[in-house]
Amino acid sequence: MAALDPVELAQDLIRCPSVTPAEGGALDLLQDVLEGMGFAVRRLPFSEPGTADVDNLYARLGTEGPNLCFAGHTDVVPVGDRDSWSDDPFAAEVRDGILYGRGANDMKGAIAAFVAAISSLKANGSNFDGSISMLITGDEEGPSINGTKKMLEALAASGEKLDACITGEPTNPREMGTMIKIGRRGSLNGFLTVHGVQGHTGYVHLADNAAERLVRMMNAVLDLELDEGSEHFQPSTLAISTIDVGNTATNIIPATAKAVFNIRFNDLHSGASLEARLRDVLASAAGEGARYDFDVRVSGESFLTPPGLLSDLISDACEAELGHRPELSTTGGTSDSRFIKDYCPVVDFGLVGESMHKVDEHAATADITALSQIYARVVTEYFARMGCADASA
Ligand SMILES: [Zn+2]
Repeated sequence: MAALDPVELAQDLIRCPSVTPAEGGALDLLQDVLEGMGFAVRRLPFSEPGTADVDNLYARLGTEGPNLCFAGHTDVVPVGDRDSWSDDPFAAEVRDGILYGRGANDMKGAIAAFVAAISSLKANGSNFDGSISMLITGDEEGPSINGTKKMLEALAASGEKLDACITGEPTNPREMGTMIKIGRRGSLNGFLTVHGVQGHTGYVHLADNAAERLVRMMNAVLDLELDEGSEHFQPSTLAISTIDVGNTATNIIPATAKAVFNIRFNDLHSGASLEARLRDVLASAAGEGARYDFDVRVSGESFLTPPGLLSDLISDACEAELGHRPELSTTGGTSDSRFIKDYCPVVDFGLVGESMHKVDEHAATADITALSQIYARVVTEYFARMGCADASA
């Protein structure tokens, strides 16, 4: 078969209005294309009370190991203010070398680039003693409950093994081939509620001021010295997101005060180690007889895939295609790699993400083509390094 054009495939995918959690025809389209290329395709729909039903897709070309996986999502965020878009967000028009549309860089463009890369390898007669797979969810931009996490569990239960994974999230800040994400910070939310005794501001000895105790406790939290960063991570950060007392009277000492804060933490901590430290600090700052509740929710642990095979292969491919090597970074938000890291080494590398989730989201067609060529090199080199040299060569 002839090699697919990555830009045309990206356009076809963008024209499927798969606003999370809707499938929008995007997975059906992908299934058709992948089956035409010889992939064995499985759909993995999941549901759970209280959440939307989500469709997902896993496709594998080959039956032998090692299994190199590409992970991504076909769901997209809503268009937001439709009137601010220069065009229909699902028209997928190319103007002056730029492809516009919801999902152009986050991340239908990268999915198209990977599929086109495999089609070009097949068109060239490449044949590997290993497998190439695609793990594509429809629940990345939503709550991420019925997506990658459940797919990985179901695949593992059916004996499917992933050996290495590239997640195609947009990682490059402004220019193609300038950043690979080799890990992500963790995120913890702390919810503190202090209980006191309401009273008259003129009779403080008869009351127990919850607001003042909360201020003392949050000061101790702010004074925490988390760390100064680690080899691959910036220092962990803490931010108070809200403090609420809800007192509208000037002559009342409040009985309740609440604070919520978020910690983005590096690989020197875990959610559990931070929680233990926070509980210690709050207890000593609260003082004798204080009454308060403290809840913690960890939305993701930090992780690192140390520089190695995957980051080397992508860096070498970027140098060959673009003439420069990307920075290895752990900055920014989280991705589904936080689930994949429990199964195999994973890094994120995709398009330029400057316009993701924005009005007039776009990707340069030259970047999509370059990404496809980079992915093709990575796949070829991966199997060569794993001793599965191209049998046809
Ligand atoms: Zn994304």
